[in-house]
Amino acid sequence: MVVARPNLSLAEKLFFPALLTGIRITWKYFSRTLVAVITGNRDKRVTLYFPEEKWEVKDGYRGAPTLVKDEDGREKCVSCQLCEFVCPPKAIRITPGSIAPDSSNAKIEKAPREFKIDMIRCIYCGMCEEVCPEEAIFLRKDYLFTGLTRAEMVHDKKRLYELGGVMQRPIKKWANK
Ligand code: SF4
Ligand code: SF4
Repeated sequence: MVVARPNLSLAEKLFFPALLTGIRITWKYFSRTLVAVITGNRDKRVTLYFPEEKWEVKDGYRGAPTLVKDEDGREKCVSCQLCEFVCPPKAIRITPGSIAPDSSNAKIEKAPREFKIDMIRCIYCGMCEEVCPEEAIFLRKDYLFTGLTRAEMVHDKKRLYELGGVMQRPIKKWANK
């Protein structure tokens, strides 16, 4: 398929109209923020005093992928590895494990021995959440992750459960979408 080259108007061919439009938009928001700071009207600001102020995300926001437990504190993940298989950037690494036969959860076939998500690779697509048959992995509201090394940006199983917490039943997985 050949896409026809658009015919540009004289204004589009010149550099300065677009430049002036950009400056006008920047000035509009700069002056609005300046007035808001001077008058103390915080609602009018278009910027945040980060990191003291943080963006409040809405329900259904797809932040970092996390693992969740049920209301009895049991791991929901059965280490089926579907999420690992489907993850586009291969950010998930699971080491399957077994549940001890004397455990009250022994009827569950497996549980992950280790579960790692590389947050440098993760693109927050949500496919792991979509594919999980146990509703064990959810994208939560957390979005601020920093680290000085690559290793710090890999969330291990302990960290994933800390972030995910408990997901109460009945699971309203689709309610906020
Ligand atoms: S959100 Fe997407 S990229 Fe991130 S771990 Fe899940 S499937 Fe992989
Ligand atoms: S989180 Fe879900 S899809 Fe991923 S291994 Fe566990 S049970 Fe399977």
